[in-house]
Amino acid sequence: MRLIQHFIDGAATTTPPARLGDVYDPALGKVQAQVALGNAALLDEAVANAKAAQPAWAATNPQRRARVMFRFKELIEQHMDELAEMLSREHGKVIADSKGDIQRGLEVVEFVCGIPHLLKGEYTEGAGPGIDVYSMRQPIGIAAGITPFNFPAMIPLWMCAPAIATGNAFIIKPSERDPSVPVRLAELALEAGLPKGILNVVHGDKEMVDAILDHADIKAVSFVGSSDIAQYVYGRGAANGKRMQCMGGAKNHGIVMPDADMDQAVADIIGAAYGSAGERCMALPVVVPVGEETAVRLRGKLLTAIADLRVGIPTDPDAHYGPVVGAAHKAKIEHYIQMAVEEGAELVVDGRGLSLQGYEDGYFLGPTLLDRVTPDMQSYREEIFGPVLQIMRAKTFEEAVSYPTNHQYGNGVALFTRNGDFARAFAASVEVGMVGINVPIPVPVAYHSFGGWKRSGFGDLDQYGMDGIRFYTRTKKVTQRWPSGGAVLDQSFVIPTMG
Ligand code: NAD
Repeated sequence: MRLIQHFIDGAATTTPPARLGDVYDPALGKVQAQVALGNAALLDEAVANAKAAQPAWAATNPQRRARVMFRFKELIEQHMDELAEMLSREHGKVIADSKGDIQRGLEVVEFVCGIPHLLKGEYTEGAGPGIDVYSMRQPIGIAAGITPFNFPAMIPLWMCAPAIATGNAFIIKPSERDPSVPVRLAELALEAGLPKGILNVVHGDKEMVDAILDHADIKAVSFVGSSDIAQYVYGRGAANGKRMQCMGGAKNHGIVMPDADMDQAVADIIGAAYGSAGERCMALPVVVPVGEETAVRLRGKLLTAIADLRVGIPTDPDAHYGPVVGAAHKAKIEHYIQMAVEEGAELVVDGRGLSLQGYEDGYFLGPTLLDRVTPDMQSYREEIFGPVLQIMRAKTFEEAVSYPTNHQYGNGVALFTRNGDFARAFAASVEVGMVGINVPIPVPVAYHSFGGWKRSGFGDLDQYGMDGIRFYTRTKKVTQRWPSGGAVLDQSFVIPTMG
């Protein structure tokens, strides 16, 4: 059985792990590898290496650090097929979607190739008599990232690219369910010229997460995962004085206005609801048609589109989506479908019970469609994270907007309309962090930032873009005066002013 080891100081660890976790092939429903599960002692080793390597890396001029990022980008591109195949085998998403996962992370690497420019500080000449003020961005030292199973390339790259480009050492703790891709990325970063110890990967579960949150030398932690864990991680890390950013779960709504281009909206909704088996924090699991006539047209077209969906193994080039990640997750999704039925929702298409010939033990689920969902239902209030689309009918635009606004999650939302007035009012008022206007999955590009509101995000700085640069750096503000620049000789016991 293949053993996936930690990656510390530029190499896989060799000591036999005390604990092991199973890594499944979701298409086969079988264990394909084992992953070492680390503890506080193992983390100490990674931090000690990071601490030894970081000062020289921080002192390397930003242009040279950028060259490493350029080379890292090239290597990821060269290894795209290998990485996508590795990702699909552990996660279960189809190969084309795995390439998208890698590509969206790669775009953050591209963004930080401009790190010399991004790190420039501010300068004010003559802020007072003979006084200049300037600020500079300095790395925080050692940071860590704790990532979810659903984007094993993109999310580690969201975090590690800005962290290392700004001169920090970084420790990734990937999801123990699909840990191979982050290790491979760390190997490629080393090949790109990153010094040993600057990018380390430690595997583990809660024990390792807690060790990270309690480690005095780790100054900042970025987390992406489910909301309860995000809130716990945020609280524990912040209580230990760390800078924290913790992204949580989601329940994204797509509102369909009567004037929407219905064929385009349905194509968008189908892809966003069922792509990656619904296992995306920016998936669109709730659709809100405004008006009865819109609901009837939407439902009819959704049914036609669902009938054409193909669920398959990740390497099937015609499959729209693959298996869900694991047996327990599959059971949880089925449980929510049953709950929705018991709560009074109409089960229009039931995806349970799907079996693929030759892959009978795989974690496959067909597309499910539920109609007449209401805001009081638990199956609506909570995140399902599977190929399940819920239709919630609204009478007016205002009622439709109230649903995402009042929901506990506020990650993404979309409006389908041709009316600019509605679109503008919607973008301005909806209580959600990322808004799409006729765009079903509004994940901001790498030079903006990603982050949700309410229980979808804890902390104030978002992922990547300028927020990513801010998160991994501290600004130092210098006020300077030179003796010849108008020294004031008398003592002053009053707070200095520039008056
Ligand atoms: P998860 O919360 O189970 O795991 C995330 C990380 O936390 C993993 O590294 C895991 O090892 C660790 N962890 C799990 N249980 C823990 C515990 N009790 N204590 C400490 N650490 C623990 O999430 P997941 O199932 O891997 O990922 C899916 C979730 O992530 C969904 O809720 C999805 O919406 C969310 N997500 C959010 C975003 C976003 O940017 N908002 C992006 C992707 C995924």
